[in-house]
Amino acid sequence: IWVVVQEWLPKIVSLFAAEADHRSVNLKLSMPVSPLCIWMDKNKMSQVVVNLVSNALRYTPPGKNIFVGVKSTIGQVLLSVRDEGVGIEPEHLPFVFERLYRVESSRNRETGGAGLGLAIVKEVVNAHGGEVTVRSWPGKGTCFQILLPEHDLNQHDVNQEN
Ligand code: ATP
Ligand code: MG
Repeated sequence: IWVVVQEWLPKIVSLFAAEADHRSVNLKLSMPVSPLCIWMDKNKMSQVVVNLVSNALRYTPPGKNIFVGVKSTIGQVLLSVRDEGVGIEPEHLPFVFERLYRVESSRNRETGGAGLGLAIVKEVVNAHGGEVTVRSWPGKGTCFQILLPEHDLNQHDVNQEN
C-alpha cells in the first residue's frame, strides 16, 4: 500500500522509546516536513526498521545516540539508522547480510540473536526495488542506509489508514 513516511515511521520508532530510555540510549528521529510517499508492504518494511533499530540498541552502550533519519533525494527516499555503538570490523562487514552470520568477537554480548535480522532486511528492501548498504567504524558506530524508490504524492491515492 501507499504509505506516507511521516505517518508511519514515528510509530515504529516509538516502539523502542521505552527500551532506549531504559538503556539510557538516545533514540532520535528526523524527517523532512514535506510528505514522502513509498509503495510498500507495510508489515515487512516495518520489520526492516525494527530489525535495524533493535540491532542498533543491542550494540550501542548507554549514553550514546541512535539516529533514525529520512531524506528525499532525486526520485529516491533515503532511510538511515546510524548508531554510536561498538561498530563492525571491516573483515566482518561484507558478510553481515548473510543468513545466520554473526560477528563473534571478544565483546561481551548478553543477548544473542539468530543472525537473521539483516538477511531479512536485505531481502525485503531488494523486493521493494531498493538497496541497503552499511558503513561502520569499529569502536565508533555503524550506519545502515536504505534507498527506496520515491513516489509522487500528487500522482496517487494514498492509503491513510492507521
Ligand atoms: P537476530 O537479528 O536474528 O536476532 P543478530 O542481531 O545477531 O540476530 P543480524 O541482525 O543479522 O543478526 O546481524 C548480524 C550481525 O551483524 C550481528 O550478530 C552483529 O554482530 C552485527 N551487527 C548488526 N548490526 C550491528 C550494529 N548496529 N552494530 C554492531 N554490530 C552489528
Ligand atoms: Mg539483529
